[in-house]
Amino acid sequence: MKESLQHVAKWLNSKQQFAEDILVTGVSINTLTLQAGDLFIPFKGEKTNGHQYVQKAFELGASAALWQTDEGEPPADLPIIVVENTEKALQQMAKAYRAEHGATFIGITGSNGKTSTKDFVAGVLSPYFRVQKTIGNYNNQLGLPLTILGLHKHTEVAVLEMGMSNFGEISFLSNLAEPHLVAITNIGEAHMQDLGSREGIAKAKFEIVDGLQPSGTLLYDGDEPLLKPFVDSFLTNPTLAIGYDATNTLYPTSIVATDRGSEFHVSGLVEGTFQLPVYGKHQVKNALFAVAIADKLGLTADQIARGFLNVSLTDMRMQPMISSTGALFINDAYNAAPTSMKAAIDFVASSNLRNEKWLVLGDMLELGEDETAFHGELASSIAPETIDQVLLLGPRMKHLFTKLAPTFGERVRWFEEDKKAMAKILKEETSDQSMVIFKGSRGMALEEIIEQIEA
Ligand code: ATP
Ligand code: MG
Repeated sequence: MKESLQHVAKWLNSKQQFAEDILVTGVSINTLTLQAGDLFIPFKGEKTNGHQYVQKAFELGASAALWQTDEGEPPADLPIIVVENTEKALQQMAKAYRAEHGATFIGITGSNGKTSTKDFVAGVLSPYFRVQKTIGNYNNQLGLPLTILGLHKHTEVAVLEMGMSNFGEISFLSNLAEPHLVAITNIGEAHMQDLGSREGIAKAKFEIVDGLQPSGTLLYDGDEPLLKPFVDSFLTNPTLAIGYDATNTLYPTSIVATDRGSEFHVSGLVEGTFQLPVYGKHQVKNALFAVAIADKLGLTADQIARGFLNVSLTDMRMQPMISSTGALFINDAYNAAPTSMKAAIDFVASSNLRNEKWLVLGDMLELGEDETAFHGELASSIAPETIDQVLLLGPRMKHLFTKLAPTFGERVRWFEEDKKAMAKILKEETSDQSMVIFKGSRGMALEEIIEQIEA
């Protein structure tokens, strides 16, 4: 954003008068990341009260600040807009800026895959449009307005992630963003406690149509039966079913793993072949949303295919790379829990990309009192006939080591914490015949092993 403070005051229905030359070039809720020109918005939290940092914000170059009425009189002689509630004011500012902004707005929700889909959509579109997207995971009632206020005036497409933990939240976010296109990537199990059931989750996600533009399109997970009743009774707008099943409007006819990631062919709405720099069938499904959205924005299959070359992931999730040893490394070191650990092991076990299969696995953290059992149980997914070498890191992985040792013998090795030793082994013993997957909890930072090998 770039607005006069006077204009911002108008957004907030304030009658206060400010010098015409005070310009607000951004919004900040934290003095640690505040940039000169930002409007500082203090929140009253349970632990800290942001109002005590207002002076500091001005010292750091803030152009202006908000102030909540129940905090008494604001500091004198500073450009401060007094409001009833600063959080509501942030949202009101975002809504007003949104209403004046001419970009195409895209809203993405779902239990899983929001961030991935957002990154794919933005990557594919960015050679053709001026695109901005939600930074990181800024997808809630504060993150979304901050994202919207961070949009440049000339931005043509805004790709926004919308998250929730209860009913009403997605509706609120959608009404704020008034999107032209919305996507529901899938329905999972998260937040079951608050929403009661998977039906409840579907209902809560479907709220994303609440702010959809009159002629806007809904894209949804067409493989999910729970969404069907909602879609069937939603007759006002066009809808597109996206999924694996050939009854969908857009579906994949083949998915092949290559050294560079997934290559997939689609049929239906669009016909074409695309490259995605990441493995995993569910990521291909997320990518289908990007194909469909790009099609709705007028791109041809060829343009979309070229757009996919622009997709990059920096998040260590099933990311392929060719190591200096010639081996195919798969970096899945972002995080690990039993289900995703098994999925990653199965991927390597069933892959025919390389003959020699290596697992480099680190502790799974935060599993509670059953953690020993969870680590030991992984043994049933690791067969000595399909997996060649196993390197284990961390105290909890000792349990898996004990289970594997009788069948794997010297082909399984355990390390308490010595990543250097593991890097040395991989450097000396892997070749262009090998594929190696790295997976463990975030706290294990398994990517450091890769960094040591490639240093
Ligand atoms: P968050 O709620 O944390 O913001 P998110 O919805 O943004 O999550 P991503 O960060 O894209 O989701 O992906 C998180 C993980 O969910 C991935 O590592 C992957 O294992 C899994 N995942 C991603 N997409 C799907 C999908 N379509 N179906 C099932 N699982 C998925
Ligand atoms: Mg996310």
